[in-house]
Amino acid sequence: MSAKGKPSIVIAGGGTAGWMAAAALARFASATHDITLVESEAIGTVGVGEATIPQIHNFNHALGLDEAAFVSATQASFKLGIEFAGWSGDGSAYMHAFGPVGRAHGPLPFQHYWLRAADEGDAGSLAEYSLNEQAARAGKFRRGPSRSGGAAMPYAYHFDAALYAAHLREYAEARGVTRVEGRIDSVAKHGESGHIRALHLDGGTQVVGDFFIDCTGFRALLIGEAMGTDFDAWDALLPCDRAIAAPCAKAGAITPYTRATARPAGWQWRIPLQHRTGNGHVFCSQHMGEDEATQLLLDNLDGEPTADPRTIRFQTGKRREHWRGNCLALGLAAGFMEPLESTSIHLVQSAIARFLPLLPGAVPAQAAIDRFNADADTEWLAIRDFLVLHYRANAREGEPFWDAMRGLALPDTLTSKIALWQQTGTIHRAGDELFAEVGWLQVLAGQGVMARAHNPIADAMPKEDLARFLAQQKQAIAADLATMPTHEAAIADLTARHNPS
Ligand code: FAD
Repeated sequence: MSAKGKPSIVIAGGGTAGWMAAAALARFASATHDITLVESEAIGTVGVGEATIPQIHNFNHALGLDEAAFVSATQASFKLGIEFAGWSGDGSAYMHAFGPVGRAHGPLPFQHYWLRAADEGDAGSLAEYSLNEQAARAGKFRRGPSRSGGAAMPYAYHFDAALYAAHLREYAEARGVTRVEGRIDSVAKHGESGHIRALHLDGGTQVVGDFFIDCTGFRALLIGEAMGTDFDAWDALLPCDRAIAAPCAKAGAITPYTRATARPAGWQWRIPLQHRTGNGHVFCSQHMGEDEATQLLLDNLDGEPTADPRTIRFQTGKRREHWRGNCLALGLAAGFMEPLESTSIHLVQSAIARFLPLLPGAVPAQAAIDRFNADADTEWLAIRDFLVLHYRANAREGEPFWDAMRGLALPDTLTSKIALWQQTGTIHRAGDELFAEVGWLQVLAGQGVMARAHNPIADAMPKEDLARFLAQQKQAIAADLATMPTHEAAIADLTARHNPS
């Protein structure tokens, strides 16, 4: 208990994960808990992580952040999806765009009508039925519905994760979170329970607490080193283990989508922000050396680099338990998958959302710990399957890394999902799995994994009606696009509300 008689929560680490946790606890638990965050400026943060998914709105809304202030403070741009370039060979490209692709009809999702039309030879590509993809490719974006009734477009952000953490720090400190600067030297535990008692900092300061949140990044000082929680490595399925990051100057208009371009032993990200473009090359060190990977990245930037290239080493996988005793791990301390679908910051937010309803008083309940860990497993495994699909279904023949990825032994969950799609045209979304059917649809079709059948109900629609059904959708998208502002105009419009001149 703190001096004020409240249970105390100590957050170790002040990267994106630490300050997201601090901000959420400040918002919802500052009346009942004492909250302290310890971080070390000398150690710094991982310094990458700039693309998000639309669920980030739930987090920002829960905190009550003003969108214009947030977009200005974090140099954010809007993100409508991710383009995957070269995954089926150089020159190929498809998009996993947010939002609907085509309209459902009767009991069937759109893809059954699209598959039937494809069989009959006149479907066009899936992209033609996605407003988000068409807008992304045209460099356009609109917040909210259009005046003529066009639906609001789901979107996420590209932002500077360090600026986001700083924005949340301001929020959290203003609501009573105490920040302690210092390097954690060791972690003291209670003898009998094995629970953490205190963090010992260089210089002799002790930070005592009832509950600890490990946000120390890949070091995992609390959940790993102190609590001894095992790490389940996933490198057999997701073998990339290095990233070289190099921001560059902005060149041309800010595109409203992330790009993930396949390279001979991995892939390259391009994330456009207002003030610069984030770039990185994720690769497998068994197939490429760091010097070659760095050169490949530098040869493929669209502006002058604005900082020296930096290497980040990682291993994919997760802690077997994200919560053990009085210690919860968030962010990179909990584990890491590829940044391929921009899920890491989301995993911090969803863990916080699951933790708050289970928030312990002075002593955590084992039932709460078990519930949390089981849900974390389900969530992480489903995302892992989705990422593995991108690699497994590649068509880059003749490159050893990609040839090996096509031979991956798939988890049963993924095998059955692909089989259902191929045999029936149906995509099954388990429970509250993060990625919806429409996300799987775009990646499966985009990577050339096609269904061989569709639901027979789709055959009941007369051929002319099907043609009209499809044409109307394309026309509605074209009409909406014609009146849509450019992405840059949409950013300027929003940020002007924060800084009216
Ligand atoms: P860190 O940023 O590493 O922060 C760790 C904190 O702990 C720091 O404050 C540090 O000072 C502190 N600390 C560590 N040791 C000590 C100590 N001994 N004493 C005191 N303090 C200590 N996520 C996305 O959502 N989208 C992306 O596009 C994306 N891209 C990524 C690309 C790569 C290559 C990588 C590696 C990650 C990416 N991520 C992405 C993940 C994202 O960067 C992280 O999930 C997110 O920033 C959270 O990091 P963190 O706070 O857990 O760790």
